[in-house]
Amino acid sequence: MPLIKPPQGPPVELRLSRDLVRTLKRGHPWVFADALRHLPPARPGSPAILLDNKKGRPVAHGFYHAQSPLAFRVCSPNPDEPLTNAWAEAQLTRALRLRKTVVPAQTSGYRLFNGEGDGLPGLICDVYSDTAVMQLDGPGPTGFWDAAGIARWLAEQLRLKQVVLKPQARSSGTDQLLVGQLAVNPVPFLENGVHFVADVINGQKTGFFLDQRNNRKLVGQMAANRTVLNVFGYTGGFSVYAGLGGASRVTTVDLSGPALQTAEHNWHSNNLPPAQHRAIKADAFSFLADAAKTKNAWDLVVVDPPSFAPSKETLKTGLAAYQKLITAAAAVVNVDGLLAAASCSSHVDLAAFLLVCEEGVSKARRRATILAIAGQPADHPTPLVFSEFRYLKFVLMRVE
Ligand code: SAH
Repeated sequence: MPLIKPPQGPPVELRLSRDLVRTLKRGHPWVFADALRHLPPARPGSPAILLDNKKGRPVAHGFYHAQSPLAFRVCSPNPDEPLTNAWAEAQLTRALRLRKTVVPAQTSGYRLFNGEGDGLPGLICDVYSDTAVMQLDGPGPTGFWDAAGIARWLAEQLRLKQVVLKPQARSSGTDQLLVGQLAVNPVPFLENGVHFVADVINGQKTGFFLDQRNNRKLVGQMAANRTVLNVFGYTGGFSVYAGLGGASRVTTVDLSGPALQTAEHNWHSNNLPPAQHRAIKADAFSFLADAAKTKNAWDLVVVDPPSFAPSKETLKTGLAAYQKLITAAAAVVNVDGLLAAASCSSHVDLAAFLLVCEEGVSKARRRATILAIAGQPADHPTPLVFSEFRYLKFVLMRVE
């Protein structure tokens, strides 16, 4: 089964213009166009070999996209390892093997391929029971990986019934069904024994935010006898864990009506009492402002917004938005209650996010103690040298 597209000739030779060999040998997977001497024309995703800037010695194998600022992605930092189908199968198998050890019990929703973190540049795959959802990060990965071949390979290895390939962004294309008939959607799955569904066609990302699994569990453990507000709640992941953890009342706020309907569905399918959950369609900032005005407060507040800083250019406004949100959220936490704040922006590092939390809490004229700092779970591996890939920050605070 082809897992990578057949090369049209020998690998493209690319020559570094800077001495990046040390970081590449440490496992950094990206080379930007401005670090290359020439950008020869080639089809996006062409296999390429990277040569050093001094003597032209081979450094790494990967693939190339001449038109992208991210011109070269490393597949293997071993120049003696050509990128064959056997190489690709070994990489995919290695990713599968890791999941066998890190995915918790009673969990059928997990990330199977985490791109660069699995040595599979630009290839993302989430599994929900017997359905897999793949995503390729742009024309380079699309030109390199054989999505249809990988889908068939996966279906065989994991006995999957359906494999969906999602476009990188909704604007850039439509979903393709690579395996199966899509007989089931939304797809039911388990996470730490909790029942959820993922709408793999209309949902956000691949249908569910698997990266918050451990953090949801922590929130569940802290929720007993507390009133809980879950802002940017999507399909109620944090809400359901809080309910199962013994929260006295849970409120889920989101802008998306369909997501809230699924949140209600998820609440009910875990046999939680309907009267203890409210789903409210509202803008998070207006909801929090109104709550503060009417002196509404909760014992545990979760804020897990979409990325406010999706690029370097938006970092400043993004940080300001995070700070505003933390202030608004801290203002509606009861004394000695808990505030869980997350950021999924790769441009906001942990130090910056902690500073935003500090400023934000202080603007609300409150003080806080950190109870936990966390990030992505082990089925979302990242290269040690590639901190930008550790996009998720999660801070649990007690607010005095
Ligand atoms: N915490 C969720 C994931 C949140 S994703 C989980 O564990 O699954 C971010 C969510 O924020 C999306 O559901 C999106 O619909 C919602 N959203 C985006 N902007 C919003 C806004 N201004 N007010 C309320 N919700 C918003």
